[in-house]
Amino acid sequence: MIERIDLELCDGCNLCVESCPTDVLKMMEVGNSWGEQTWKATIAYPNDCHNCRLCAIDCHVDAITVTHGITLPQPLFAYTKEVLNEDVTAKV
Ligand code: SF4
Ligand code: SF4
Repeated sequence: MIERIDLELCDGCNLCVESCPTDVLKMMEVGNSWGEQTWKATIAYPNDCHNCRLCAIDCHVDAITVTHGITLPQPLFAYTKEVLNEDVTAKV
């Protein structure tokens, strides 16, 4: 799952937003300490991330951290747990 975007490194190029197939990322206008407005990438819908790493690969300043954890949609996760429990019970 996408973990973080280093906003110090992000220069707002928008490449990661364009490369994400599930629209996890959005651009957000933020102010800096000099009162200037600038654009940064933000993680808008983290639960839609499926770990493809395209955003991290395309980011030219290595601002994006994606972990290798596998995320399953909740209904599938519940089903998988149920099947595993049945298997365990069957072996006992
Ligand atoms: S690709 Fe990297 S530098 Fe460009 S907007 Fe995304 S995080 Fe920022
Ligand atoms: S790892 Fe893939 S799905 Fe997740 S935010 Fe990046 S491009 Fe989108």
